[in-house]
Amino acid sequence: MQLPNVQAPREAPPGRLVSDPRQEWMRIALREAEKAAASGEVPVGAIVVGPSGEILSRAHNRPISECDPTAHAEILALRKAAKKSGNYRLDGCRLIVTIEPCPMCAGAAVHARVAEIIYGADDPKTGAVRTLYRIASDQRLNHHAYVISGVLAEECSALMAEFFRSRR
Ligand SMILES: [Zn+2]
Repeated sequence: MQLPNVQAPREAPPGRLVSDPRQEWMRIALREAEKAAASGEVPVGAIVVGPSGEILSRAHNRPISECDPTAHAEILALRKAAKKSGNYRLDGCRLIVTIEPCPMCAGAAVHARVAEIIYGADDPKTGAVRTLYRIASDQRLNHHAYVISGVLAEECSALMAEFFRSRR
């Protein structure tokens, strides 16, 4: 029997790296985190990317300047993305954030029904998608998001470390 003629997978041209969209998104989130640091806020940045890869929103931490304990980067990014898409549900969207979301933000991401949460560095103090809790993958809840951790983790945590060092 003759085997079907299967084409070899296409490879990137030699000398060219295939860029990982997750890293590109994280770089945009990192730029947001830098804006937070510049205004004295804990440097966390977040973006929401739509189903076809378009950037729906970008935001950074603003609880101090907004006098709003809920003004975390993720909450602000989810709000903007929902407004922009005219839908309170962000089906097929991805939330990209520099630091592991806290319980509030992980809960908001589940409510928003994002498909995927991509984050940089773990947060041993409030991390709620992998470290302390696993809200986005808790089978008792009615929606789950796929979680990807460790994207540009070193850059993300270095920004935090630098921020807290400068405030001491
Ligand atoms: Zn949060």
